[in-house]
Amino acid sequence: EAAGPAPQAGTATHCPYCALQCAMYVEPADGGGWATRPRDFPVNRGGLCRKGWTAAELLSSSERLTTPLVRRGGELTEATWDQALDLVADRVRALRAEHGPDAVAVFGSGGLTNEKSYLLGKFARLALGTRMIDYNGRFCMSSAAAASRRAFGLDRGLPFPVTDLGGAGAVLLAGANPAETMPPLMGHLTAPALVVVDPRRTATARVALEGGGLHLAPRPGTDTALALGLLHAAKLEGLLDDGYIAERTTGFEAAWRRAAAWWPERCELETGVPAGQIRAAVRLLGDAARGQGAYVLTGRGTEQHAKGTDSASAWINLALALGLPGRDGSGWGCLTGQGNGQGGREHGQKADQLPGYRSITDQAAREHVAAVWGVDAQEIPGAGVSAFELLESLGTGAGPKAMLVFGSNPAVSAPHASRVRDRLGSLDLLVVADFVMSETAERADVVLPVAQWAEEEGTMTNLEGRLLRRRRAMDPPPGVRTDLQVLADLAARLGQDPARFPAEADTVLAELGRASAGGAADYSGAAPERIEAGEEVHWPAPGPASSTPRLFLDGFAHPDGRARFHPVGHTPADEATDTDYPLVVTTGRTMGHYQSGAQTRRIGELAQAAPAAWVEVHPDTAARHGLAAGEWALLTGRRGTMRARVRLEASARRDTVFVPFHYGGAQTANDLTNPALDPVSRMPEFKVAAVRIEPAPAP
Ligand code: SF4
Repeated sequence: EAAGPAPQAGTATHCPYCALQCAMYVEPADGGGWATRPRDFPVNRGGLCRKGWTAAELLSSSERLTTPLVRRGGELTEATWDQALDLVADRVRALRAEHGPDAVAVFGSGGLTNEKSYLLGKFARLALGTRMIDYNGRFCMSSAAAASRRAFGLDRGLPFPVTDLGGAGAVLLAGANPAETMPPLMGHLTAPALVVVDPRRTATARVALEGGGLHLAPRPGTDTALALGLLHAAKLEGLLDDGYIAERTTGFEAAWRRAAAWWPERCELETGVPAGQIRAAVRLLGDAARGQGAYVLTGRGTEQHAKGTDSASAWINLALALGLPGRDGSGWGCLTGQGNGQGGREHGQKADQLPGYRSITDQAAREHVAAVWGVDAQEIPGAGVSAFELLESLGTGAGPKAMLVFGSNPAVSAPHASRVRDRLGSLDLLVVADFVMSETAERADVVLPVAQWAEEEGTMTNLEGRLLRRRRAMDPPPGVRTDLQVLADLAARLGQDPARFPAEADTVLAELGRASAGGAADYSGAAPERIEAGEEVHWPAPGPASSTPRLFLDGFAHPDGRARFHPVGHTPADEATDTDYPLVVTTGRTMGHYQSGAQTRRIGELAQAAPAAWVEVHPDTAARHGLAAGEWALLTGRRGTMRARVRLEASARRDTVFVPFHYGGAQTANDLTNPALDPVSRMPEFKVAAVRIEPAPAP
């Protein structure tokens, strides 16, 4: 990690938001409070986006929670830590005694540090004894992770450093809009040819077009068909890398049989992308693959579907057919979204996984982790259910009666959010650890005020699988505890040996290293001192000097060392439009806000720049539905409604509207989204739902 220029009074750390994890200093601001300034580092090269520049404002915000709150007589009222934690422990014990250990659930986050992610999984399995733990990362890139595992035998978002992208001759971005979501990444997307696949003319698509690249705008939900069409066109154009396919892969013939039906003209009929553009795009990629190198990168737009794993596999198949993965200067990768989207899924927050990215049903894995935890393997509960299935089951029949939420806001961020809010409201006990009163915290029985990113020590793993150190720049406000301390305090009240739940991040990281040793995501050599000494540490890092910035150069992680094509076909979106719901709504992120907006909506400059949800509509569509620019519209879907201000956009598809998902209350986009789940990863279909739209008064 580059140390950058010597700070005057700053603490070298990383941004609290997205998976790029830009490096920054946190330091006292002129006139009081705190400020951030960029720090030189390979991924951001001295840049920050608007969110990074303003991130320190929340540290001294009047909206900080600094006192535990307990619901009494229907109102959240101030309590001492002992009162709040005793109440939680008493209620948990009673519910477990009455209904069994699965009566208490845990919901985590891809924003938690590695140490918190690890300790939360251990807390759920040992202190609560529950199977019921999952996290919001299931909504992030779980489908790409599943596709990566089946193709390469291992999942790391980018199997190469971000800096490699700059040397490529072409980069295809499928369903990613980094010009808005992680702007410093654009400094690496300098390839002579950018191809952007997105139903919208996004900021990234505009950059591609201005640079002489291409924007392919498929009908939402037809991404897989487009990827199959590109594979077909690659064969027609003679661009397949036959030597690579023969030597480094298996399964091409079966995958090709599915692509054989998607010649460019047929693909155009399904996706709306002109056949000429399909051929031109694959020529850009194929020519670059034979020269400077090429990359295929995917994002949420192509992954958040009820067949999201197949969609990601279709893009991986294209990359494999062109001979890209596991080659220096070329590859496939997924642009992870959440700050610790990578590390958050490696350490045991997922219902089906133990630390080290191990399967919870693998007996050898259970025995390894049990030995580190000092328990018998049979004391570790089995696999639970995925995030939406867990949320949907809350308070019902055999479903959990209580849930502890750390660092997540599912009342806004889950699909079919109105149903999720109902389920949260039906719990006997909802406990939320957060530093602001999120929409989920508003519904809690107990709210625990916890420290923010710059007030505690910890590590994150960015989208390159690189371990980063977040350092404490200041103490938390009086009355605030760290999440690690909260877990330690609760575990002790539930009868656990305090030595099992340390509250110091370095101690937890050392144990995480032992628990992950020998697993796919091996952190056993990733000591924090190495980062302090300026070393780059990418997992797997099994030894004290090891780091793996580039995976698969010598072979893929399957036993035969070969990557696997997975045969996939195109399946229409789960929900179709009809006369009652004639438009497709698709959702996404925007420049000024992050995830559910619980943090960024509380930052003055960001709130002012984007104070309310908007709906992007083609002018013809707006005219047909009586909408005017700047006025409010009501969107009605099969599960709920939302209100948003109308923005006219001439480049928009006439059959599709777009809404950002960063807002709560009547502007919650996820009240419209479809919880149909991908059968492999359990990713919901966030990106395609049917709606109607009409003028409406302000919410
Ligand atoms: Fe923070 Fe991401 Fe913006 Fe970088 S791109 S400053 S990590 S939000």
